[in-house]
Amino acid sequence: MDDNTTTRTALVSGGSRGIGRATVLALARDGFHVAFCYRSDETAALELEKEVAETGGRATGRRVDVADAAAVRAWVAEVEEGIGPVDVAVTAAGITRDNPLVLMEDEQWHQVIETNLDGVYHVCRSVVFGMMKRRAGAIVNISSVAGVYGHASQTNYAASKAGIIGFSRSLAKEVGRSGIRVNVVAPGFIETDMTTAMNEKARKDALKAIPLRRMGRAEEVADMVAYLASDRAEYVTGSVLQIDGGITI
Ligand code: NAP
Repeated sequence: MDDNTTTRTALVSGGSRGIGRATVLALARDGFHVAFCYRSDETAALELEKEVAETGGRATGRRVDVADAAAVRAWVAEVEEGIGPVDVAVTAAGITRDNPLVLMEDEQWHQVIETNLDGVYHVCRSVVFGMMKRRAGAIVNISSVAGVYGHASQTNYAASKAGIIGFSRSLAKEVGRSGIRVNVVAPGFIETDMTTAMNEKARKDALKAIPLRRMGRAEEVADMVAYLASDRAEYVTGSVLQIDGGITI
């Protein structure tokens, strides 16, 4: 058990790869003991734990499907008991199942909503009461520019990501008086496993549309998340910060 008086605890869903992984590293560097979850890739999770430990930080991974409410509740309870009260929660777990609506399968729709939107609800629902009791906390939910502007063949994904924005702004209004901040980061195209699945034409078209002419790096998104999680952002809540190389201007 950690000494809770000195260690701050951060929870990161989808922390084993991509943006979540970079966020685990950034928050560990900032002094948090980071509890992260993943769905299946245990090897990536173990490697990350090791990498954080090598830099003198602490990160503890668990296999938890964010679509499973009971599993998320149990994970948060385990973290609060074993590591400490959750000061910061970041929801990075997310998937795509792209298809034009005319071809969309019910399973593709439901998988995306259950992971991306229900997952955010499950994590926030599990941490919010503790944060309210302690009258402190910062939540950062990862949306997407697709949730702000829409994206063809991503009605399911865009709906989940737009839902995260409405959810987060409403929660920010609810819990601001309890000292809790809730913000959203909306990335554009970021170099991760999620975007390596893009075909060559889609990648070329995307690069042409990005004024900065490159994809973003997971570390750049993680820096923004770490800022929102920190006391430097103590007057920032209900905001949606885009990090997209200018693709939306
Ligand atoms: P990624 O590289 O595919 O990594 C996704 C992470 O989420 C992995 O750690 C994965 O664990 C975990 N995960 C997936 N489903 C889960 C579930 N049901 N329960 C628990 N963990 C789960 O994705 P990414 O590109 O870093 O994306 C991270 C977030 O940023 C997502 O919400 C995504 O929508 C958003 N985003 C990404 C981009 C982009 O261009 N990459 C742009 C805008 C927004 P396993 O490996 O074990 O499956």
